[in-house]
Formats: sequence, structure tokens, C-alpha cells
Amino acid sequence: MVTKQPKSAPSVRANTGQLVQPLDQWHRPFRDLRISLTDKCNFRCTYCMPREVFGADYQFMPQRELLTLEEIERVAIQCVALGVRKIRLTGGEPLLRKNIEQLISRLALLRTPEGEPVELALTTNGTLLASKAKVLKEAGLHRVTVSLDALEDVRFTHLSDSNVTVQTVLQGIDEAAAVGLAPVKVNMVVRKGLNDDQILPMARYFRHSGHILRFIEYMDVGSSNNWNWDEVITGQEIVGRIGAEFALEQVDAHYRGEVAARWRYKDGGGEIGVITSVSQPFCGDCTRIRLSPEGQLYLCLFASQGYDLRAMIRGGSTDSQLAAYIHGVWSNRRDRYSEQRGTEQVARPKIEMSYIGG
Ligand code: SAM
Ligand code: SF4
Ligand code: SF4
Repeated sequence: MVTKQPKSAPSVRANTGQLVQPLDQWHRPFRDLRISLTDKCNFRCTYCMPREVFGADYQFMPQRELLTLEEIERVAIQCVALGVRKIRLTGGEPLLRKNIEQLISRLALLRTPEGEPVELALTTNGTLLASKAKVLKEAGLHRVTVSLDALEDVRFTHLSDSNVTVQTVLQGIDEAAAVGLAPVKVNMVVRKGLNDDQILPMARYFRHSGHILRFIEYMDVGSSNNWNWDEVITGQEIVGRIGAEFALEQVDAHYRGEVAARWRYKDGGGEIGVITSVSQPFCGDCTRIRLSPEGQLYLCLFASQGYDLRAMIRGGSTDSQLAAYIHGVWSNRRDRYSEQRGTEQVARPKIEMSYIGG
């Protein structure tokens, strides 16, 4: 990848004129950038990319529509100058994106205006992780989150609508930890009647493993999964079920805006997280902005429309124009979908999770 960017991100003033780090209309700071690298995936999880919608004739984005790695880096530099401290690569399945390690090695060079490295993380379904973990770590990745919704093969292949074995994903998790991408976080989306019987087997398996298991309430993202409330198992119920077998105590959040509520096993078996986006929304602390594969900037995960950065980039906008635009988008932000769920204000089309990446 050829790039003329300097080794460290320029300071806010150097690169964005007089712009200061923005706060939105609810005084939320601009902190996390999630970059979706592709809308493609080698799984067809029933809650995310159901095969009836994402079948053999589904038209994924052509390569030319995607932001190039250089264009992604350029957006990331502006976001870091404006306050972003954490970048997460996601998708679709981000490990399907060619040369992802080259992008990581460029992002690893970014520095905040205070001179600190930016935290770099990746969310993956884990299928390609065993073979790629080492190269990702060497490129400068700090942490990895692996999605795994069941421990039983039959259940797992049904949920992911693939023929990948659980063992393949577990090997990916172990390899990631072995190369130093630890602690690995393991995300399990819980859907009543489909995999809630896997909550305890998963908890037992990951206790004392050094990996952090996190349970995610099933969300109404997108329009293709026909979500309904009856399929949600709340975080409280999940903690109750695990707590009935292993004594748990709550742990303080690491920082403002941490989405997972943390619990630890009293016997020292490690910790779990619970992400209660549906039952106890945390929009007041939402510090995330999202970049889609073809360069649309989205705020809320449940947004209907984005802001076209690719048109600006390919239309010749300067870095300061780009930064001023992103600053304006964040400053005007007012969304808080999960707190308004079910009200008329939010009854409208939403982007798909497989496109924006969570
Ligand atoms: N393919 C990668 C993976 O599965 O980890 C990254 C993209 S995936 C869209 C990011 C995360 O979103 C995964 O952990 C997935 O389980 C979660 N997810 C997808 N649809 C969801 C839904 N309806 N509710 C809650 N989480 C969901
Ligand atoms: Fe693919 Fe991840 Fe969506 Fe599953 S959750 S279909 S692995 S993008
Ligand atoms: Fe943030 Fe939107 Fe999720 Fe609320 S619903 S936490 S505003 S992404």
C-alpha cells in the first residue's frame, strides 16, 4: 500500500484548523470509530444475513465502490485528530478483506493529539483467525473479539448457516490469545429458544480460560431478521442463570461508555460481560461513529441514512474540509434509538448489521 501519510497523526490544530474535539447535542464525546471493511461474509447467521435475503443472487458491493485502504486511513487520521481513541475493524467478515494487515500496520502508526497510540481492535467470526492471528498481531492489532453463539456443532452450523465447526473458531480464539491478542473477548448473541440453552455450557467452557465471554441481547438491527421482543433474553436473566450455578459479583466499568456490564466469578474463574442494548439502553454514553465499506459515515447503529465521505474524498476535498464535515456531523448528532425503541419517531427503515458491523 503506497501512502504519503506521516508516521503519526497530526494534532487537532495542525490538521483541522481551529476545530476543537466535538461534543454532540447530548454532550457525548467523539471517541470510537468502527470501520466496516466489507459487506461480504462467509457465514449466513440467521439473525444477521438470513440466506433468504442474502442468497446466491444477492448483489454485494463491487470492489470499485469500496473505500480503498488509503481512503480509509485518510478518514481515520481525521477522526483521530478530532478525538477518536479507539478503532474497531468489522464487517461483514473483516478477515475477508484483502490486505487487511497492511491497513492495520498503517493505523497502528496513528497517534492522538496527546501522542498516544490509538487502540486497535477487530471483531471477527473467527473462521480465518487461526491462520491470520500472528500476522494481525505483528501488523499492530491490539485486541480481538470473536463471535460464537453455541458450543455444539449442530447448533452452531444451524445458527451460522455454514459448515464451519466450533473447533475451528475455538482454535482461532486460542491462537489469538497465544500470539498476544489477549484477553480475547467472545461475543454470544442470545436468542430465546434458539441458543439460550447454550448460555451455561458457554459459561462453563470459558471460565478459567483467560478469555472474556460476553452475552449480547438480541437486537432489532436492520430489517431482514424479523426481530421481535419475545426472542430477547435480558442480561438480567442471563446473569441470574449463570449466578445460580456460579457465584457472581458486579465489577465497575473500566471507563465511561463501556457497553458491557462486567461481572466476575467470586471463585476467581474470570469475568463475563453483559450487553443490555435492549433492556437497559446506554445511548447517553454512546461515543461511536461508523464508517461503511463504501464510505458512508453513520452515527447510530439504527440509522437510516449516512453522510457521504467517499463523494467528498473522490471529489477532491482537502483534509481540513473532511475534518470540518465530520466535526459538523458529530456536533449535530441527536440520535438515541434504543432509548426510543418502539416509539413512532423510530419506525423507519434501518441499515443492516452485516453492512455496518455493530
Ligand atoms: N462478522 C463479524 C462477526 O460476526 O464477529 C463482524 C461483524 S458482526 C455484524 C458484529 C457483531 O454483531 C457480531 O458479534 C454479531 O453476533 C453481532 N450481531 C449481528 N446481528 C445482531 C443482532 N441482531 N443483535 C445483536 N448482535 C448482533
Ligand atoms: Fe457474518 Fe458476523 Fe453477520 Fe454472522 S454476524 S452473518 S459472521 S457478519
Ligand atoms: Fe448508540 Fe444508537 Fe446504540 Fe443508542 S441505539 S447506543 S445511540 S448506536
